[in-house]
Amino acid sequence: MVTAIRPEPKAKLGPTQLLINNQWVESVSGKRFETINPATGEVICDVAEADAADVDRAVQAARQAFIRGEWAQLSPTHRGELLYKLADLIEANKEELARLETLDNGKPLNDSLNADLSLVIACYRYYAGWADKVQGKTIPINGPYFCYTRHEPVGVVGQIIPWNFPLLMQAWKLAPALAMGNTVVMKTAEQTPLSALRVGELILEAGFPPGVVNLLSGYGPTAGQAIARHHDIDKVAFTGSTEVGHLIMEAAAQTNLKRVTLELGGKSPNIVFADANFDQAIEGAHFSLFFNQGQCCCAGSRLFVEEKCYDEFVAKSVERARSRRVGDPFESNTEQGPQVDQEQFNKVMSYIESGQLEGAQMLCGGSRLGDRGYFIEPTVFADVSDGMKIAQEEIFGPVMSIIKFKDLDEVIERANNTMYGLAAGVWTQDITKVHAIANGVRAGTVWVNCYDVFDAAAPFGGFKQSGIGRELGEYGLQQYTETKTVTIKL
Ligand code: ADP
Repeated sequence: MVTAIRPEPKAKLGPTQLLINNQWVESVSGKRFETINPATGEVICDVAEADAADVDRAVQAARQAFIRGEWAQLSPTHRGELLYKLADLIEANKEELARLETLDNGKPLNDSLNADLSLVIACYRYYAGWADKVQGKTIPINGPYFCYTRHEPVGVVGQIIPWNFPLLMQAWKLAPALAMGNTVVMKTAEQTPLSALRVGELILEAGFPPGVVNLLSGYGPTAGQAIARHHDIDKVAFTGSTEVGHLIMEAAAQTNLKRVTLELGGKSPNIVFADANFDQAIEGAHFSLFFNQGQCCCAGSRLFVEEKCYDEFVAKSVERARSRRVGDPFESNTEQGPQVDQEQFNKVMSYIESGQLEGAQMLCGGSRLGDRGYFIEPTVFADVSDGMKIAQEEIFGPVMSIIKFKDLDEVIERANNTMYGLAAGVWTQDITKVHAIANGVRAGTVWVNCYDVFDAAAPFGGFKQSGIGRELGEYGLQQYTETKTVTIKL
């Protein structure tokens, strides 16, 4: 179902320069690049384009701030207060930020406001609370010694974020890093630079000292690589594709062995047993795949359905996909907006073609919607087999692949037959099956009779090639501290 696209209500744009050392500056090269409204394909504005020289400037500012100690040695309570203040400012500007997110990314305003912004604010508050609660240990070692540990900041942290949840990925990375006293050089995704820069203004308004947060817009192979290769960056945290994750690790290995945390791709199994609450499972499976235009690293993109209920489940899933409301992301009843850009649009369309060529049954969708912007019809494939490309590779779009299975042991083995291990879902009323899946599937998160339930306190990250390390929760803090052992002779 399509609604007509109206000219979007104007979102206030905010800054379009780089934030380095608390100053808004142009890039050293003077270059700028365009950011596009994915609902229309039109240019929104241009923004400064950082490359290696700007990364250098930002790293120097972050290093100086770290050395001066205005942040790392600030009382932890005060660091927490500044993070609380930032959360309050984001909340006060929630509507404006949500509109900007929708304009630049294309996600429905309802989602920007109620999902993204709510989680963003909660994330800053959660880590604000942690700032003064991370403690070392006293350790009873042998001999006349007093031994204790200190949890110190890692130092200057490079952070590279993706375009699918721009503000939320900024929060997941900035909040724990800052709470622990690190200083940051962050590169946003080239598709969605605007909302993170507006948060930069709020960071200044909150009163963070110069050099603590530096925000760069720019491209991956230039600015991103410069961060990954920089000798004076102590740690890099990356969210994006598994392919680029390999490049980041390589760059770290070839330079200064900076610490690396990665949150990468997924091909998450979502397993529906015949005893599940049927309506909840239909809606849950739909949501797990189509939420955010299918652009989630943890999307339930291999939907395994038990043979006994397969035909009925497929029919209902198709019905639900057909009723999905696709259109103007600023309309209040829109469920699905456009894909983020032409490149992602082309990629998704090529997977749809591959599904058809490999013999899966396309039961609805499959085409572009409208004649401008990057809209794709919600698409459902049934009779998908494990070896097909659409069952193996990350599509990152509104394309559901339904796969039949017979029994528990078989489905666990097939669910694990992938290089990824980010998330999994299971729908059943049987506690034995719940535990078998929760224990047997090799994934960082398992959702039972629910999907995409996120909370700042619950860790998230991948097994296998879905990543290294965890974000969120107390586990997320460990990635932003070094442990120092101090031994004193008595
Ligand atoms: P996607 O394919 O979904 O855009 P990417 O992994 O390419 O995902 O991008 C995620 C983030 O990684 C973006 O900020 C992007 O600019 C950055 N990036 C892309 N290529 C590189 C690279 N070679 N080195 C460092 N960062 C990169």
